[in-house]
Amino acid sequence: VSTAASSTTATGMSADEAVPLNFNENPLGLAPKAQQAVLDALPNAWRYPDAARSQLMAAIAESISVAESQLIYGNGSSEVLKMALDALAQTNSQLVMPDPSYGVVIDYAMARGIPVLKVKLDGQWQTDLAKMKAKVAAHSGPSIVYLCNPNNPTGLLLPQSELNQWLDQASSQLSFIVDEAYVEYVAQAGFASAVERIKQGQQHIVVCRTFSKIYALAGLRVGYGVAHADLIKQMQAQASIDNANLIGCVAAKASLESPQWLSLSLQSNNQAKALVYQQLAKLGLDYLPSETNFIFHKVNGDSELYMQRMAKAGILVGRPFNHGEGWNRLSIGTPAQMQYFSKALAKFRELGWV
Ligand code: PLP
Repeated sequence: VSTAASSTTATGMSADEAVPLNFNENPLGLAPKAQQAVLDALPNAWRYPDAARSQLMAAIAESISVAESQLIYGNGSSEVLKMALDALAQTNSQLVMPDPSYGVVIDYAMARGIPVLKVKLDGQWQTDLAKMKAKVAAHSGPSIVYLCNPNNPTGLLLPQSELNQWLDQASSQLSFIVDEAYVEYVAQAGFASAVERIKQGQQHIVVCRTFSKIYALAGLRVGYGVAHADLIKQMQAQASIDNANLIGCVAAKASLESPQWLSLSLQSNNQAKALVYQQLAKLGLDYLPSETNFIFHKVNGDSELYMQRMAKAGILVGRPFNHGEGWNRLSIGTPAQMQYFSKALAKFRELGWV
């Protein structure tokens, strides 16, 4: 089975396509075993997805050592975020979250009339847990805290012990949604997933995970949530019936059974990331060391204009973020794609654009 990386040009894309470095996808594409599973399952796609979904959920439960009753399927982790908010929201709840961070939860909260308090990242681009705690303390009603670990768009992990201490205070008045969309990329020693708190019995934490990133199934929409079984029941009540699709389920299960593809994806990501770090350092453009498949880096100037100029050069880079003026989030493609990007960036420097 061929991969996206081995197609026509040096960028891995056909000549008329832009290089997609804007949505944090895995450029290697589906694991060969996942592609085969899709083909094998296609003749059965006239059936409802129950069996394929059950098999996937059992495989996920085994892979992260939780009970199936502690898991919920989502049509992407975006749906899990929505179900978590619906299950956790009470009268007078507020949502507290870092800014910039992954913003979809803001739209969900606003549609539900839940006020959103955004807490600016600190001077080191770190999630400001102390300020977030203060916002919680200042509110008379319940708080739902959204945390993205590692954070998007910075790629930084949250401070582990401070995070653990706060998660241990979870209660009916203080619940947490921890978004771990990029957890498979994390290399830092000492990192512990918030899933560990759920295993210890915490009842007011939801962890959101996805198959859209390292597992390369963004187009098939498979995500899941981990929480206490009682909370999962409350979330399940918010799910639309048959929100799974059979093809996504078989692809996700086969992806879990493809550890070599995962290693290859990590290896490619690390190699490509190193190339970009090198070029950014050479050009004197600051960047944050990333625990993910994207890099937040300086572009010296208007972020929107930079994005438009890159698009004209055939490269789609990340959108501007609040408080990130003069910075851009770059998704990591294949090493060849990142070499192509590096050349474009050098050209931008020659033109005085970065
Ligand atoms: N959470 C984070 C932090 C993300 O960056 C994304 C997608 O970019 C998502 C969740 C949503 O992913 P999906 O709905 O495809 O699982």
